Amino acid sequence: MRCLTGRPASPGRARGYSLTLRPTESVASRPAGDPAGEGLRLEEAISTAQTELATLAQRLEERGSRDEAEIFRVHAQLLGDAELVKEIRELIASGRPAEAAIHQALEEMARAMESLEEEVFRQRGADFRDLAQRLTAILAGRTATTELTGPTIIFARELTPSQTAELDPRFCRGLVTYAGGSNSHASIVARALGIPAVCGVDPGQFPPDGTPVVIDGSDGRVSLEPENRLWVEVGAGEGEGGYGSGDREPAHTVTGERVRVFANVAGPAEVAGAVEAGAEGIGLFRTEFLFMGRGDWPSEEEQYQAYRRAAEALGGRPLIIRTLDAGGDKTLPYLGVADQANPFLGWRAIRISLDRPQQLITQFRAILRASHHGDLRVMLPMVTTVDEVESARRLWDEVRAALAGEGVETGPIPFGIMIEVPAAALIADHLASRVDFFSFGTNDLTQYALAADRMSPLVADVYQPYHPAVWRLMKMACDAARQTGIEVGICGELGSDPRAIPLLVALGIDEISCRASALGAVKRAIRAVDSAIAAARLERALNASTAAELMALLD
Ligand code: PEP
Ligand code: MG
Repeated sequence: MRCLTGRPASPGRARGYSLTLRPTESVASRPAGDPAGEGLRLEEAISTAQTELATLAQRLEERGSRDEAEIFRVHAQLLGDAELVKEIRELIASGRPAEAAIHQALEEMARAMESLEEEVFRQRGADFRDLAQRLTAILAGRTATTELTGPTIIFARELTPSQTAELDPRFCRGLVTYAGGSNSHASIVARALGIPAVCGVDPGQFPPDGTPVVIDGSDGRVSLEPENRLWVEVGAGEGEGGYGSGDREPAHTVTGERVRVFANVAGPAEVAGAVEAGAEGIGLFRTEFLFMGRGDWPSEEEQYQAYRRAAEALGGRPLIIRTLDAGGDKTLPYLGVADQANPFLGWRAIRISLDRPQQLITQFRAILRASHHGDLRVMLPMVTTVDEVESARRLWDEVRAALAGEGVETGPIPFGIMIEVPAAALIADHLASRVDFFSFGTNDLTQYALAADRMSPLVADVYQPYHPAVWRLMKMACDAARQTGIEVGICGELGSDPRAIPLLVALGIDEISCRASALGAVKRAIRAVDSAIAAARLERALNASTAAELMALLD
């Protein structure tokens, strides 16, 4: 047995056989073989890609994702274009390796499309690039869609959130990556899907494909070729679940304060499970997964159906829908922006929505229409300025009025913002008077307060949610909220850590939204809080000089 250690990213233990997803071979790095051989490789890659695309489209269709399925059908059609294939062949005949020929021909097509006036053609550019990536991935020896056929532990240098979401949940038992902190979106998706994950593992240590592996996402250990005893033990535990008594009951502290416990979800399919696990509502409905892995913006109707399904699954419990939080590590190909040097500091979240008002209006319309089916609230991500709140609120009011004009009346729906940028915490008094609630996004608040990229393993030790600076910022915002009389929640990962609960309760947080698997532990932690003791501890925590000093105050 060999043991690799990384950082816990999604809890739970699982076993399976390893499969390493390798980045596609660099186009420039491979010398050309003889043109006939390269032509044969091209032939085979196209045929494999056609099979993959058909399977992918069919699978998506079976899941009811018809629009996404269409994207892959279009890709298959493009691959069947005789002119395009001829062009690639000519490049191969002139001495290029298949990868470079594919890259050049498809990149030229992409650029040609992007230079056209009409939006529909411009988007086709992204399709050509996607295809080029698929073909070069196949040539590099792996299938781009990563068809899994048995219990698998995926090893990868890095996984995008959509790659994570796309892995077949029947067979993907665990994820081991190098990049991506435990607060990266890929880790959050893994937790939402209940897939154990470990990050920060040196890719040089990844095992050969097919190695038996036991992953422990709670302590960050990855055992290669484990002893039989461990293999059997983990196998016996798989699929076990069950909730403890009291997980579905409301939580009060020892001293009688009521704290509502909600769950974070990434789509309507997760809502029923969260309620089953004891969620009293959804404190963060991440909408970006509706926008990812596709070639165009989702329509109002599509969004409305998703929000409505979530609302209906909640049976009247609150549902906080966050508007699109694109950018950062969640890029949308159809936004048409080149890579940003600092994506988390760039065009992201509410900044994108306000620059694409028509899309924000569409999202607002869908939310407002769905509000007839439940207790909906709306929340803006990454707010930094008063202007952003006022502009968004103005649009919101206009959309409400327009819908009323169409005969769709909507009641007053709470309008809130995330506090995840230090500037927002520092001007919380000005923001509080303009909104109905705050919710702390501590994943981002930590990275922005400490200037530590939440995705980078190199600064994982600088990224400290228990740094006193993060808690002082939260204290400022809580004080402003209390003075203004608005509610405060938390939906960052800190809310899923039972150790943080006494301090969060002492801050006066009304609602803690955690991942579904943490609901029981969070409620148990609330029930153990004595408010006088917690208040004294908070005071000392706010005066701590380091994260270590603050953490020493936690039980
Ligand atoms: C956060 O930043 O804490 C948060 C909840 O938002 P996300 O993780 O989606 O950026
Ligand atoms: Mg955030």
